[in-house]
Order: sequence, then C-alpha cells, then structure tokens
Amino acid sequence: MKDNVHIISQKDINQLKDTIEESEKPVIITHYNPDGDAIGSALAFYHYLIKKGKNPVIITPNDYPEFLHWMPGNENVVVYKRNNGTVLNALKDADAIFALDFNDPDRTNGLENYLKDASGKKVLIDHHPEPSDFADLVFSFTQYSSTAELVYKIFESLGDQDLVDSTIAECLYTGIMTDTGSFNYNSSRPYTYFVVSKLIESGISKDKIYWNVYDNYSADRMRLLGYCLHKKMKVFPQYRTAYIAISKDELKEFNFAPGDSEGFVNYPLSIKGIRFTAIFIENDKHVKISFRSKGKFSTNKFAEDNFNGGGHINASGGYSHDSLDETLKKFESLLSNYKKQLNEAM
Ligand code: 5GP
Ligand code: MN
Repeated sequence: MKDNVHIISQKDINQLKDTIEESEKPVIITHYNPDGDAIGSALAFYHYLIKKGKNPVIITPNDYPEFLHWMPGNENVVVYKRNNGTVLNALKDADAIFALDFNDPDRTNGLENYLKDASGKKVLIDHHPEPSDFADLVFSFTQYSSTAELVYKIFESLGDQDLVDSTIAECLYTGIMTDTGSFNYNSSRPYTYFVVSKLIESGISKDKIYWNVYDNYSADRMRLLGYCLHKKMKVFPQYRTAYIAISKDELKEFNFAPGDSEGFVNYPLSIKGIRFTAIFIENDKHVKISFRSKGKFSTNKFAEDNFNGGGHINASGGYSHDSLDETLKKFESLLSNYKKQLNEAM
C-alpha cells in the first residue's frame, strides 16, 4: 500500500512551537475513562514538555484501570474525581491546555465548562472525526491509528524526534498497541510501522509492554469474561450482530473493578459472519454501551443516531438512560432497520 505521507502545516507547527516555548503553566488533559491511547499519548506529551524545560500538570477526569498504572509518570497524573480543587485551579491558571485523544469538551464528563471557560490557549491533538470548535490550535487527523502515533508525528514535525527516549517511546507504543488491538484494526498505514520501528529503536521492550497491559488481569475478570461468553452473549446471524449485556448485580458478583470489561466487546466479532457487536454495562447512572464492527458498518453513526454517542467507524460508544431491559429491547428492534447495511459486502 502506498502511504501518502501526511504533512502537518508548517504554520500550525510554528504556532505550536511558540505556544510550548511561551508557556509557563501548561496543562494536559484526556477524556473521561481514559484508555491506553489517552494515557499513553498524554504521558508521552508530559515527558516531552519536561524535556523542553516545562513543568506540566497532567489531568484525567476520573480514574483508569490498573493495567495502565505501570506507565512512567503515572504517579504524577492528577485525577479530577479525587482532587477537584487542584484540577480546577490548574485549568484556571493554565496558559496552554493540551487536549489529547478527544474531539469535544463533553467527553471530559464534568470538566467541559471549566475547559471551555479556561483562558489558556487550547491545543487539540486527536484522531476522532468531527472535532467541535473549542480549541485555538487544532491537530485533528482521522488517518492516524491513535493519538499516540499523531503525537510522534508532531514531535517529528517539530524536529524533536531525537527527544523520543525509551520513556516517551513506552508511552507512545502503549497508545498505538491498545488503539489498534495489537495491530489488528486501524493499522494498515505504513507510517504506523515507521513510528513503531523508531520506538523500538529507542530501546523499549514491546513484549514487556504487552504483558503489562494484557497479562495483568484478575481471576475475577477472567471468570466474568467466561460468564459473559457462556451465559450473556446473544447472537443474531440474520443481522450479523451479537451483543453482551451485564447488569449491576452480575458485576458485583464478580467483584467488578474498572477496566475489567475492557475488550469484551471484541470477542463476538470472532464468530464467523458477525460484523457488528455491542456490550451493555449497567451502572448507577445509566447503561454504558460500546460498539465495534468489521468493515464498512458505521458504528459511530449508529451510536450517534440512537444512543447519544459517537466515536470511530469501527469503534464507538454511547449510553442510555432507559433500564437495561428497555435498552436491549430498543437495540434489538433497531437491527431490522440496518439489515441491508449489515449484510452488505465488507
Ligand atoms: P470504548 O468502547 O472503548 O469505551 O470507546 C471506543 C470509542 O468510542 C472511543 O475511542 C470514543 O471515541 C468513543 N466513545 C465511547 N463512548 C462514547 C460516548 O459516550 N460518546 C462519544 N461521543 N463517543 C464515545
Ligand atoms: Mn485514541
């Protein structure tokens, strides 16, 4: 495959350079329920800013799974849910705010107004489609596998690729690996592998990163997965669709911890003929939903039109304020409207 190497506008890069150079109080912020790409790209940017002589504050709206806690710099992440005052002050005082891996302030679930009202210069670095208009400087490109890959591209465009040491590389590699399902989807561009080759040259152990992220589960989590696949998965071959739904009580039975259901939504995609999957997880507030697909079926459009959500074509999410049962009924009844799209050629 020919890769039209993407060039970021020199004007934007110059502006970014100036923003970084002039900033005395930079803040980095990720989306709610940050995943490997959000934490990986944010921590990589954090270490980079330190190398540029800055003293950045790194913020997440809430906690994230333990399998991301090993990452270098994790101990410096300030979690809004546990440190309201520190986070609000940092946002208020910031002269530059780097928003990583999300396209809309709403994705910070609770910090959106503080983010919008903050007077610091806002820089968006993201790979989700249709960014909302809230940042002063926007690096939003959907062709990147991950925000982490885009962050490398930005370092390269700034002429700072030599600053990518093994600490920064570990963070970036984690972002690329997790957002591509270990180079399964979202990863057909040669540039992704160029970046990976550079990260490996810096001395990281890709095997260790894989073990830290994927071989770090509790026994409860493995049992919950088994239960979901055995008892909770419904398959609709006529719609090439399968889903898993878990109630609050069931989660309790398996001592559910944040992150335990990570990846479950992908399993039904391995069934022959299945192209669209969903997982419904009941919590105190609402039913959280994740969607995945193979091929052309746009799960982000489906999420946006029916479940208050959005995301990428093949990976998206949303939520429902109906009961779990009502939500599942709605989902099942919607499928017939999409029968043609779901059965079209990949
Ligand atoms: P996950 O299913 O792993 O939670 O999320 C996959 C992708 O779906 C995320 O990268 C994000 O783009 C998108 N996503 C998940 N939940 C929501 C949501 O509630 N609203 C929107 N707009 N996007 C979401
Ligand atoms: Mn991402």
